[in-house]
Amino acid sequence: MNAPEHPLLSADVLRERGQREVFCGLTGIVWLHRKIQDAFFLVVGSRTCAHLLQSAAGVMIFAEPRFGTAIIDERDLAGLADANAELDRVVERLLSRRPEIRLLFLVGSCPSEVIKLDLSRAAERLNARHHPAVRVLNYSGSGIETTFTQGEDACLAALVPTLPAEAQGEAPQLLVVGALPDVVEDQFTRLLKAIGIEAPRFLPARRAGTMPPVGPGTRFLLAQPFLGDTARALELRGARRIAAPFPFGVEGTTAWLRAAAGTFGIGHDAVERATASARERAAVALARVRPALEGRRIFFFPDSQLEVPLARFLSRELGMQLVEVGTPYLHRQHLAEELALLPRGTALSEGQDVDRQLDRCRAARPDLTVCGLGLANPLEAEGLPTKWSIELVFSPVHGYEQAADLAALFARPLDRRQRLAA
Ligand code: SF4
Repeated sequence: MNAPEHPLLSADVLRERGQREVFCGLTGIVWLHRKIQDAFFLVVGSRTCAHLLQSAAGVMIFAEPRFGTAIIDERDLAGLADANAELDRVVERLLSRRPEIRLLFLVGSCPSEVIKLDLSRAAERLNARHHPAVRVLNYSGSGIETTFTQGEDACLAALVPTLPAEAQGEAPQLLVVGALPDVVEDQFTRLLKAIGIEAPRFLPARRAGTMPPVGPGTRFLLAQPFLGDTARALELRGARRIAAPFPFGVEGTTAWLRAAAGTFGIGHDAVERATASARERAAVALARVRPALEGRRIFFFPDSQLEVPLARFLSRELGMQLVEVGTPYLHRQHLAEELALLPRGTALSEGQDVDRQLDRCRAARPDLTVCGLGLANPLEAEGLPTKWSIELVFSPVHGYEQAADLAALFARPLDRRQRLAA
């Protein structure tokens, strides 16, 4: 499918480059560590990083958490050699205590001591020492380089070069890319099989030893809109992206499945048949939520890069009006199918100048504002209901079975506000 031409792709996007109010990429560890069951995420950072991770992981108490922080900023470093030796010691201790770990990510952060450390060399050194029991990789979750969903992109992009090569001459295979909750992955597997795609593969896999092979026969379908670097890394291995909207809501999920099917020469009929009952259930469930959202005005602050697909879902399937759709980065190629489905004239903004955007939001007084935790409190205090964007990546929201749950995430703050006002 060629990217459709759309006026939004050119002049209508307001580009802003000012102060940002978003979480850093370390946040992704909270959902990634749940997905890859024998991986460990070791943040090389400060007490601030440790604190952020703990509060983002919030209520989840683990006897043996699969993430931790090697704190290296509050010491008098005699030199980088000390920091490297300390890191090696922390890793040694960790791996001897936790022999089940097969994949160790060293995750970089912002403190200046960390920036000076070459984590890719540290990963190489540790790899050589712990191979073949453990593979050590590195990526950056620093707030200087990443917003919160970009942490997943950086993690998966680091994983791609280590994926096995697909067998020579293998028939083309489907690879679904993006960390999905297991329950959602299982639903998609069932649907794809029913459509006729026998053995869909997923990146990341649930275990380090079962990561999918990749190569020129791989046709990959993004499940998340924030995976630009991962897509590029896959393309470098010869894989080809299937252009599609994202699987949010009934319409998005159907179009996503159709795109996959089309790539393998399977027609729309097979998709219609395989998805009929799921679509019907989702439509009934969505109809129950729709009255709470229809006609309501929504404003998106840039945060997760999920904003454009969500805005499309909320406007087309729930009748919401889009006041402004802000996104930290607008990947024009990956979002082409989504942009074509947005109502004409939708106000889009890319990047952020938080004060100016707050002024626009206050002036518009939307019924609901989607934003990060930092902006939610002040806006709520001014009487503007908010939805924390972070919940959208912590909850299962993809596919037919979750469509109404996704809509309900937006309806809930409006209900609460109405009950308070009553
Ligand atoms: Fe750590 Fe930087 Fe994230 Fe703060 S923004 S938690 S210092 S990585």
